[in-house]
Amino acid sequence: MATNSQKIQYFRDRVPAFACTPGCHDCCGPVTASSDEVSRLPIKTAAEHDKALADYNCPYLGDMGCQVYEERPLICRLFGTTANLPCPNGCAPSLPTDPKIERQIHKFHQTTRQVLL
Ligand code: SF4
Ligand code: SF4
Repeated sequence: MATNSQKIQYFRDRVPAFACTPGCHDCCGPVTASSDEVSRLPIKTAAEHDKALADYNCPYLGDMGCQVYEERPLICRLFGTTANLPCPNGCAPSLPTDPKIERQIHKFHQTTRQVLL
């Protein structure tokens, strides 16, 4: 039985990367992620979380973009790579995420404790 960490790595390896519009972070906002993913992120204060939520934003979005890019959650990685989560700017990888992997990622989200970033 794979651990959640192993599953996260498995999914990360199967979501294709693609180039975004430079400087864009339009799809960043309040997102939830598995507690395993959130535990890898630096801790934000309650005030930082409250401010981000009040701005309908993500507490890890800085002036230069995502501050935790290497550890960004699966939902952030999946965005723009499937027809179900299209980029509003039309950016996409040459090949989308395999629908089977997309379903497995959503199932992973449904079966793990989700935490608001
Ligand atoms: S996926 Fe699209 S909306 Fe999100 S950051 Fe990239 S270009 Fe912007
Ligand atoms: S973790 Fe990074 S990529 Fe995901 S919503 Fe927050 S700032 Fe955007």
